[in-house]
Amino acid sequence: MVDLKGQYEKIKTEVDAGIQEVINTTAFINGAAVKEFQADLEKYLNVKHVIPCANGTDALQIAMMALGLQRGDEVITASFTYVATAEVIGLLGLTPVLVDVNPDTFDIDCDAIERNITAKTKAIVPVHLFGQCANMERIMAIAKKHNLFVIEDVAQAIGADYTFSDGKKAKAGTIGHIGCTSFFPSKNLGCYGDGGAMYTNDDELAKKMKMISHHGQSVQYVHDVLGCNSRLDTIQAAVLKVKLKHLDEYAAARQKAAAFYDTAFANNPKLKTPVRIKNSTHVFHQYTLQLNGVDRTKLREQLAERGIPAMIYYPIPLHEQKAFRSERNKKGDFPVTEKLCANVLSLPMHTELDEETLGYICKNVLELVN
Ligand SMILES: *Cc1c(COP(=O)(O)O)cnc(C)c1O
Repeated sequence: MVDLKGQYEKIKTEVDAGIQEVINTTAFINGAAVKEFQADLEKYLNVKHVIPCANGTDALQIAMMALGLQRGDEVITASFTYVATAEVIGLLGLTPVLVDVNPDTFDIDCDAIERNITAKTKAIVPVHLFGQCANMERIMAIAKKHNLFVIEDVAQAIGADYTFSDGKKAKAGTIGHIGCTSFFPSKNLGCYGDGGAMYTNDDELAKKMKMISHHGQSVQYVHDVLGCNSRLDTIQAAVLKVKLKHLDEYAAARQKAAAFYDTAFANNPKLKTPVRIKNSTHVFHQYTLQLNGVDRTKLREQLAERGIPAMIYYPIPLHEQKAFRSERNKKGDFPVTEKLCANVLSLPMHTELDEETLGYICKNVLELVN
């Protein structure tokens, strides 16, 4: 599904030098590269504060802790997402309120958000699934009207641009109160292990998140709040510093591959290609088809026999997972999510796909579904 080796080969000299430098200085924790990468990312995103941490799941948890959410508070998020988003809500004793997504674009359904707001609702967590932004303009308006926080889960959409109706642009994750991202190796900006970050334009929230990720510590050995230990390793920061310089080029390569797939599958009634969200660019963390009248299991097996991986993101809806089953989350409650989980198929998507490989994939997919 990804070709991290091919990507590494092209930046090997710089990455190796960066890693070696960390080893030479033995500044494994909070070394210079962490601050440098943080500053580079702030500049790239045009955001006041980036707070690096250990992974994307921690980023979401620290964000919710910093907002002072209390046990029993309700947090609205999408039912069609990776488990981490809803998991941290539950772990903190908050109530995850799942809402369905839009059938064509996979983003959270804003009408459903509004229908699910109660006196206990404190935050909305839109997920910029597969690489394009949810309807942030409407989500921010809803949040303002009901006095709610917005935490953007931007783990799959780092670098995507959102354009407001007045023409103003912002990077994904810098629109809500806090943005949370992941540097997991296969993400669009991936390191060589685990990593993550929070973004915010709010000085106070930045201070709190920094404190929480360092054991609730403001001054060494002075602990003002309960926190955790969540840091980005210096070695990972050194890798990310190099890769950030290539992020736009990586997005362009993904978009080019997506365009190739789009053209090959256009007008095939059995394959619905991904629909773009009007106000967002798409950085294609995944290229996800919706199958129509195709035996998905068989297709995956046949593709695998021809050396083509294809994955299902995500096979089981959150509300049907044992960990999330409850009175309010029952089978049948989220028809769009249920249909997507049954029909989606993601094709190989990465920065190293050449036309020959893409051609081979498309030819075989078309042959097998027709
Ligand atoms: C990857 C991912 C996360 C979690 O990131 P980790 O770094 O793996 O903890 C959260 N949300 C979404 C949507 C993701 O894709």
